[in-house]
Amino acid sequence: MSAYKIEEHTYDVVVVGAGGAGLRATLGMAEQGLKTACVTKVFPTRSHTVAAQGGIAASLGNMGPDSWQWHMYDTVKGSDWLGDTDAMEYLAREAPKAVYELEHYGVPFSRTEDGKIYQRPFGGHTTEFGEGPPVQRTCAAADRTGHAMLHTLYGQSVKQKAEFFIEYFATDLIMSDDGQCQGVMAWKLDDGTLHVFNAKMVVLATGGYGRAYFSATSAHTCTGDGNGMVARAGLPLQDMEFVQFHPTGIFGAGCLITEGARGEGGYLTNSEGERFMERYAPTYKDLASRDVVSRCMTIEIREGRGVGPNKDHIHLNLSHLPKEALHLRLPGISESARVFAGVDVTKEPIPVLPTVHYNMGGIPTNYWGEVLNADAENPDRIAPGLMAVGEAACASVHGANRLGSNSLIDLVVFGRAAAIRAGQIVDPKAPNPELNRASVERALDRFDKFRNFNGGTPTAELRLEMQKTMQSDAAVFRTDKTLAEGVEKMKAVAGKMDDLKVTDRSLIWNTDLMETLELDNLMPCAMATIVSAEARKESRGAHAQEDHPDRDDENWRKHSLAWVNGEKVALDYRPVHLNPLTGHNEGGIDLKKIAPKARVY
Ligand SMILES: Cc1cc2nc3c(=O)[nH]c(=O)nc-3n(C[C@H](O)[C@H](O)[C@H](O)COP(=O)(O)OP(=O)(O)OC[C@H]3O[C@@H](n4cnc5c(N)ncnc54)[C@H](O)[C@@H]3O)c2cc1C
Repeated sequence: MSAYKIEEHTYDVVVVGAGGAGLRATLGMAEQGLKTACVTKVFPTRSHTVAAQGGIAASLGNMGPDSWQWHMYDTVKGSDWLGDTDAMEYLAREAPKAVYELEHYGVPFSRTEDGKIYQRPFGGHTTEFGEGPPVQRTCAAADRTGHAMLHTLYGQSVKQKAEFFIEYFATDLIMSDDGQCQGVMAWKLDDGTLHVFNAKMVVLATGGYGRAYFSATSAHTCTGDGNGMVARAGLPLQDMEFVQFHPTGIFGAGCLITEGARGEGGYLTNSEGERFMERYAPTYKDLASRDVVSRCMTIEIREGRGVGPNKDHIHLNLSHLPKEALHLRLPGISESARVFAGVDVTKEPIPVLPTVHYNMGGIPTNYWGEVLNADAENPDRIAPGLMAVGEAACASVHGANRLGSNSLIDLVVFGRAAAIRAGQIVDPKAPNPELNRASVERALDRFDKFRNFNGGTPTAELRLEMQKTMQSDAAVFRTDKTLAEGVEKMKAVAGKMDDLKVTDRSLIWNTDLMETLELDNLMPCAMATIVSAEARKESRGAHAQEDHPDRDDENWRKHSLAWVNGEKVALDYRPVHLNPLTGHNEGGIDLKKIAPKARVY
């Protein structure tokens, strides 16, 4: 493809993505003295992390007793015993450190009377290993925590002289023939030039793939680009069947009303005005875990107790809360409710519906962020030169279901861990890898093929078909029948990728081509999700399978691995890490405390 001129760049580390995870990694890498570039398709502070409202979990204990062991227990239980124990321990133990670092970098947290970081209650976060009352563990900057984090981390990264390549769209990984990652190709959106970043370490921090679904709280840019690149590199995706529905997306618009609204005292009602969560989760009520609340809402609607003319949604009530509290703690969602639902939260309930919110699955990594080229025989084999952090990754700390406010902490704990690890294994004095030209050619050929697509199906049409299929067949509740039908439908949808039509052939601000490349990343995510879901014959966390309603630890306490190639998906499994990092006697967690049991709230 000699028609394209390629500019080459050489770095120790290239981070793809400038959300919370990418920026924390970028900052840490630069602090380690590594020559670091951050490549991002949107301006850093426009990454989806900016929308995170509720807050970031860490057992600071500012508002009452708390401990990292309790946080770890809640995370294990939240994950429905699918998370990796070592990674969950690392998360809970390092969380306070990572939050204090954010504070010192300058994140403007809300404060308590005596000047400490303000913390609010969030679903599934408890005391006394689930025996005590809810805990206030979620550190918040009003309801704009992600916004505050991104701006601070971006400023700090610039200060550390990390170099930013903004509005560069990464298309493919450059891989050696023996599976080492050597860099990444990117397309500069505003002038149409192509770039290859040669790096000793590539870090994927590209976020989730919520847009594989029709109704999602995530930004339109959340298209699983890193997952797509990994799938094309022949590496597996892990636990993709676990997709979180947030209980309170605004009905119709899909945008999020933070769980913090219930943390501050809001509650859900059905058409009879009943606080129905009291029936399902007598102890934690509206603050039960997200998968539980989403299912209860869906049952209420199915049984005819939904609100509205079509009885197809639920009410979230905040009007009983003091006006000052709403103004101080939830200003952003008061505004969202007004703009997107026409509701004044001081007077009326907000119409809400469970909406796709988070992807527990992603690129498998260990707790250092190193990507795993895993299969059943080599469950912990590392893919050299490649790391993944944030929602794109699966460490796995969220297992089958993530607790609210555990993603923001995942971003900074593992962004930081990746930097610490890179400081150990990347030698700034060593030469960069010699680029595999065949891999560069393949990336170019693919780009050129997409640019010249001239079939019969517009990108937007095929994307909608995928989104509708996923929304109806890989939903809150799943059955053998819906999943089997969904797999067949999705195969047909994925099979149409070669019939796409791209009308704009230019290279400058070609959104048609960009959305087509994004669709090519969403498609393997959707395929892996529905095929892994169809195979998993149990119910666990967000995967509620009505024909197999119980969790089956004997056969299914294992991670799914999916290799996607077009409409073909191959599956394998790897064991869950059961051992903690430190023994009980050395101050670690008591394994008996986190042994599997029924998950009730
Ligand atoms: C509305 C909303 C509210 C939330 N609230 C909370 C909360 O209160 N607490 C909590 O813990 N979690 C919350 N979450 C979840 C959490 O915010 C996300 O999981 C997290 O922000 C993801 O961060 P990330 O850094 O992995 O990715 P993102 O923030 O999504 O960033 C992805 C980055 O990758 C870049 N990128 C992607 N593809 C490419 C490409 N091809 N080339 C170049 N760059 C690319 C983008 O430019 C972007 O910079 C919320 C999520 C949503 C949607």
